[in-house]
Amino acid sequence: MVSREQIAEAAALIRSGRVVAFPTETVYGLGANALDPSAINRIYAIKERPKTSPLIVHVSSVNMAKGLVAHWPGTADILANAFWPGPLTLVLPRGDKIPLELTAGLDTVGLRMPAHPVALALIEESGLPIAAPSANRFTQLSPTTAQHVADGLGEAVDMILDGGPTEVGIESTVLSLTGPQPVLLRPGMVTREQIEAHLGPILLLENAGAAHASPGLHAKHYSPRTPLYLLSPAEPLPKDGDGVYLHWSTPRDGATSHPMPQDPAQYAAILYDTLHQVDLHGYDWIAVEAPPAGSAWAGILDRLKRASIR
Ligand code: AMP
Ligand code: MG
Repeated sequence: MVSREQIAEAAALIRSGRVVAFPTETVYGLGANALDPSAINRIYAIKERPKTSPLIVHVSSVNMAKGLVAHWPGTADILANAFWPGPLTLVLPRGDKIPLELTAGLDTVGLRMPAHPVALALIEESGLPIAAPSANRFTQLSPTTAQHVADGLGEAVDMILDGGPTEVGIESTVLSLTGPQPVLLRPGMVTREQIEAHLGPILLLENAGAAHASPGLHAKHYSPRTPLYLLSPAEPLPKDGDGVYLHWSTPRDGATSHPMPQDPAQYAAILYDTLHQVDLHGYDWIAVEAPPAGSAWAGILDRLKRASIR
């Protein structure tokens, strides 16, 4: 779907400070040279993203990652071996090459190696680490297809590489390795249990204390335009207007029924595309059945909670 020529053209744009949307396995990214402050500023401008929200840097090898940090701890080696390439971002002490524009002024940097051939080819071909947040305007739904990117950002992007729908479907798990104990800053499809199988017990953000408040974790994020209600079984559907009910177990009377997968990986893979579609449909509200408990669903629950805040 993406040709060698397109990769070469995109890499040349990245090298010249421009911005390219590209597929990763999580969501589509809005990519620019991570070492170039003005390219980074272009990302913030296109997204209308507050400068307080740091960007994640995408690398194509562990070696490239090591060159961007002040210190590469043994825990990073263990996790990179286990989960890279894949949807796990590691927050580490920032190396001198990483501009403060990228980290929102922090002395830490978020790094990950994406598991998508187009993303890896783009990084390799440009010879640069690529800063990339999701390719959507701030607080809107993340894109999981090239069409979502075109609909949301259109002309603002220099090029969009179309690698088809993304496989994981929600943003990466973010884990901080900068303190005495690892802290899970954002849940995702690499689960707490999977990380703990390698590192032993880790802290959740809510138990980590103020020192670990993660910038950029805005409560409202990832939202459709239509009001979204996340409902436990005891909570009723909204009464007024026409709504749709996204359920993984049981449909309810009073809304258009929209079944969702019972497997968390399949659910995450289609969640944003489903929300994009029902958002375009013009319902008065979207109700979503609360997902099951457990770490396999924690990333999905986190995104649904943020999407439900008005
Ligand atoms: P995304 O919006 O998917 O690009 O993810 C970026 C998010 O990762 C930020 O909003 C932060 O929550 C987190 N993040 C990235 N870099 C850092 C960092 N240096 N320290 C803490 N959190 C970070
Ligand atoms: Mg985003």
